[in-house]
Amino acid sequence: RSAASGQSLRQARTVCAAAATAEPETFQYQAEVDRLMDLIVNSLYSNRDVFLRELVSNASDALDKIRLMALQDSEEYKSGTDLEIRIRADKEANTVVIEDTGVGMTREELIGTLGTIAKSGTAKFMEAMKEKKDANLIGQFGVGFYSAFLVADKVSVSTKSNKDGSQWLWESAAGAHSYTIKEDAAADIPRGTRITLHLKPDATEFSDPAKLESLIKQYSEFISFPIKLWVKTT
Ligand code: ADP
Ligand code: MG
Repeated sequence: RSAASGQSLRQARTVCAAAATAEPETFQYQAEVDRLMDLIVNSLYSNRDVFLRELVSNASDALDKIRLMALQDSEEYKSGTDLEIRIRADKEANTVVIEDTGVGMTREELIGTLGTIAKSGTAKFMEAMKEKKDANLIGQFGVGFYSAFLVADKVSVSTKSNKDGSQWLWESAAGAHSYTIKEDAAADIPRGTRITLHLKPDATEFSDPAKLESLIKQYSEFISFPIKLWVKTT
């Protein structure tokens, strides 16, 4: 604190700022993302079980990326985690957790991907959806993540990238127009992403492991990583 030089004063300031990040920062969704989420939630109500296929597909993509990096540089395997997808249903908490040991996301990547449209084609997606409410369109146009809000009124994404040592927590409520990001105090992920869906009152059927198992068999048969379904025993 009693900084003798400018150098250590700067360091002292940095330490304070890092401590302060325990407070969540709020970001507004891009207007386009807002409209997209509304459209998905309102159009695909009767197809809402696609959320699991989309989140498993994202987990698989993240695992593909780390596998590719590992081929180029085996250092990427240094955390020693198995490449797999874990799904956990909790009836009491009314949650579904989808976890992978893939590349994870840095804070910048979280801001750049969940809440921002990085790709073109959103307008086309909206057009196509207005013509035909087809659940396959969300996968085709690369907006699958938002299908989480078909069944969840709150989504928490805790993630740790292989590129840095920090674990970040992204959270958003359905219809909130915004999301928050803060450093995750739990700091319990070696690498990868854990998505927690806080289920809507009318979507409690998805906290049933038997239901999840049948969806995995139906939609995620050709995923090339093990999918482990955990069941809470009481
Ligand atoms: P797409 O998968 O077609 O890119 P999504 O809406 O499904 O579109 O996902 C958007 C982006 O969010 C992904 O491209 C990826 O960068 C990031 N993402 C989503 N889920 C994960 C995950 N489990 N691990 C790492 N990155 C993820
Ligand atoms: Mg996807």
